[in-house]
Amino acid sequence: MLVVTNLHTAYGAISALKGISFEVAQGSVVALVGANGAGKSTTLNTISGLLAPHEGSIVFNGRDITGWRSDRVAALGLVQVPEGRQILAPLTVEDNLLLGANRRRDRHGIHADLEASFERFPRLRERRRQEAGSLSGGEQQMLAIGRGLMARPRLLMLDEPSLGLAPLLVQEIFRIIADLKAQGTTILLVEQNARKALYIADYAYVLESGRIVREGPAAQLRADPTIVEAYLGKSRASSSG
Ligand code: ATP
Repeated sequence: MLVVTNLHTAYGAISALKGISFEVAQGSVVALVGANGAGKSTTLNTISGLLAPHEGSIVFNGRDITGWRSDRVAALGLVQVPEGRQILAPLTVEDNLLLGANRRRDRHGIHADLEASFERFPRLRERRRQEAGSLSGGEQQMLAIGRGLMARPRLLMLDEPSLGLAPLLVQEIFRIIADLKAQGTTILLVEQNARKALYIADYAYVLESGRIVREGPAAQLRADPTIVEAYLGKSRASSSG
């Protein structure tokens, strides 16, 4: 579904991605794991068109979208849930959700999906008329995921969904991701919490300083002693990054 080849992205003179290649198959959950600064967010931001690569290609469903603007990328159904949620604090919970559907014109479908969001996240229903800025961190992450789903994504890119959350909420966010997976949603998941990411993903890539240093079926990576030592040595369930 998504094929990224030899991607290079830089911030001025600072090279953040040094030629990474990976794939996401339809219906799969693929994790990109790695330490702080490895280039995970840069990868997602390049795919979603927020950053322009200076080399390499991004092909989505057979179409070369390299260098496309973010609104065109999103219109294809490649939807990013950004790191740090980026919800609009003064707007209500419901209006934030509806923002996710701002490209859609199917009123009935939007209404049905809004109801589905509230089914999925009952806490958001209770708070639908409340300012989004008043939500807790975990609720804001649910809102950010809900908003992404309102766009009816063909591929959902989640950037550090567990960042900064207490362990119980981390569990809840991963349960939500597991539900999405069970429903067949294709997901590219960026996480510093490699332990949890490798439990939920089908396949994973390990990023280090802008390069992919390992890849394989997630079950294989989490059983690999070098990965265990480097990334899974201690429980990072409560890591805030
Ligand atoms: P984190 O979990 O900290 O977000 P990451 O793996 O997502 O880590 P990136 O944010 O993609 O890493 O950063 C990759 C590299 O690019 C790092 O060396 C970082 O310092 C650098 N970088 C990121 N954003 C910028 C920026 N706006 N300007 C300059 N350098 C940047």
